[in-house]
Amino acid sequence: MRGSSPVPASTPTPASPVRDVRHSSRIELSESALRKNLAFLRSRVGAKPIISSVVKANAYGHGIVPFVAMAQRLGIRHFSVASSYEASCVLEEVESGTTILIMGILYSADLPWVIEHGIEFFVFDRSRLEEAARVAEEVGRPARIHLEVETGGNRLGLPEADLGAAVRILKDKRAHLQFVGLCTHFAGMESLANQFRIRRQLARFQEITKRLGAARCVPELRHTACSAAALAFPETVMDLVRIGTAQYGMWPSPDIEALVRAEVGERASLHRVLSWKTDIMHIKDVREDDFVGYGTSFQAPRKMRIGVIPVGYGTGLPRGLSNRGQVLVHGRRAPIVGLVNMNACMIDLTHIPAAEIGDEVVLVGKQKNNVISIRSFSEFTNALNNEFLCRLPNAIPRTVVR
Ligand SMILES: *Cc1c(COP(=O)(O)O)cnc(C)c1O
Repeated sequence: MRGSSPVPASTPTPASPVRDVRHSSRIELSESALRKNLAFLRSRVGAKPIISSVVKANAYGHGIVPFVAMAQRLGIRHFSVASSYEASCVLEEVESGTTILIMGILYSADLPWVIEHGIEFFVFDRSRLEEAARVAEEVGRPARIHLEVETGGNRLGLPEADLGAAVRILKDKRAHLQFVGLCTHFAGMESLANQFRIRRQLARFQEITKRLGAARCVPELRHTACSAAALAFPETVMDLVRIGTAQYGMWPSPDIEALVRAEVGERASLHRVLSWKTDIMHIKDVREDDFVGYGTSFQAPRKMRIGVIPVGYGTGLPRGLSNRGQVLVHGRRAPIVGLVNMNACMIDLTHIPAAEIGDEVVLVGKQKNNVISIRSFSEFTNALNNEFLCRLPNAIPRTVVR
């Protein structure tokens, strides 16, 4: 804490460390990678649609505050989040004229604040529509709503049976309800195996659009596309696209990557925005047959040189990488040996004799000619990549590199 005044017990813990000391690792965000990703996405969706940068879950672990600042510098003026808490984080960072959209939970208690600040939000039930109109009247500003309709995903979405009632409320209360968007979310666009389901959702969405048009209840914008849809299915790209995964430089799935590459070849390029680094904190030699770390999960098959790094499952490194993961030291791969502990893990440096205490260790990213990709953290499914990223603690400092 700066200065000497005592902090009252009720003061919330700051999200980032107050003291000027080091954390056990650091994250770098590449602004040039984000610029290239946004340019590639723009080339896929065309000049007109609004690109909404999805920054829920602490910007997929990248750090919502530095990421939003960087995206704004690159011209993004629309951000989507999953809660009013996240909306408040974005609001701190953005200039006026930037739109914030809450796609997820919005408690009634926060509704006046949201409407007052012109923050937009998804509505998927009738009672929320009535409530929003009432609160907007009290606040003296219209509620800017996006009607999320059920099309077959069966997650969030206004049931089709309530559509007529919703139209009546939207028309009756038009002084207090601004019908900004009509939208839906696809149930697993990443996987070609889900296509039959996605096609039905898109057809349902088109029918609902027609019904609303016939009732002369027309939204300003229509949107359905997430990263996978925006990259590979132009028929889903309407007035706005909601882009998470791809802006961070990850393909939503191998299916989508193959589809896009088949079409545009080498121009299909997404660049990893995040790198994660730490340093070697200790080195020791162990004899053949010595166990390394807790328990007996790793026994040295020969004389080995073992390094210790100050990162574990408490600081973002999945415990599932025990005896499986790899990091980079001097541009070479060093396997993780033994169990990933809460705040440390061991790496094999036997083949990297020049490695010394204090040398840089790359957990994610590039070093010399070698790369640890986010995909390599979970070779199985893309969902796990996002899970790993989202769990990177907010306390790890993030710096933007140009
Ligand atoms: C998370 C989310 C997105 C972004 O999905 P990506 O696949 O990461 O691009 C879009 N729309 C909704 C409703 C979401 O919840």
